[in-house]
Amino acid sequence: MPRRSSRLRLVFLVGLLTLTVLWAVHDIRSRRARTEWQRPVEVAVDVVELGAVNAHAVNALRARFPALEARLAAEYHRYGGRMGRPIVFTIFGPVRVDRPPPPDPDSTLTSLARHAYDQWLWTRAVDRVSELPARHFDSRIYVLAREPRDSARNWVEGSSEQGGRVGVARIDLDTSMVDLAMFVVTHELFHTLGASDKYDAAGRAVIPDGLVEPNRVPLYPQRYAEVMTRNRVTAPGVERPPESLSELGVGLGTAREIGWAGAAKPK
Ligand SMILES: [Zn+2]
Repeated sequence: MPRRSSRLRLVFLVGLLTLTVLWAVHDIRSRRARTEWQRPVEVAVDVVELGAVNAHAVNALRARFPALEARLAAEYHRYGGRMGRPIVFTIFGPVRVDRPPPPDPDSTLTSLARHAYDQWLWTRAVDRVSELPARHFDSRIYVLAREPRDSARNWVEGSSEQGGRVGVARIDLDTSMVDLAMFVVTHELFHTLGASDKYDAAGRAVIPDGLVEPNRVPLYPQRYAEVMTRNRVTAPGVERPPESLSELGVGLGTAREIGWAGAAKPK
């Protein structure tokens, strides 16, 4: 009977819609829960080699994550956090790929949708090879490592979904680049946790949000590079890329965005 079948179809569609809404609510809640800091944020880092990469550098990269956990914990404690390790990394890979993830989309809706789909295909393929169970992690950061080609210009950049779950950090990897890679991974991870960039169109740190110690006297040189900028500010208008993990800092603006700080000032 046509009436009965159309009623069944309606029930089915309403059921499907309800499930979709429930899933979306659950996903939004679980993404928000990451920045409540009631439990550690669990991050999967998947090391992906685009072509052959020096094995020493890859091993050095993998071995550096406990130090990054400790550095991030120290910054979190500066804002009064209580957990021992607020961010825990689990490392996957290295896996070798012959195709990088899709380039950044422009801002049109079709380009964004296309990019989301292409990136999903790419990460799904990489997850399978590296046996990364995507569901178990709050955020996944893919470190796309490439052998350095041109000593004049290193490839260090990233892209992430702000407030999403997936970030990509691209780096020309040799042993001298390992600590800088830790900055890029943290930068992309913090985007997934809701942090915004703290540099201007020219790439310079925004003052004061791009400074870790905006009340330091004298103000410069700053001791730390704010993780959502690109550099450490050493004098007015003068910046330097960070050289070591010990320079990694989290400024108040970023700390507020990821839920480490409320209105109170850090110690
Ligand atoms: Zn950024």
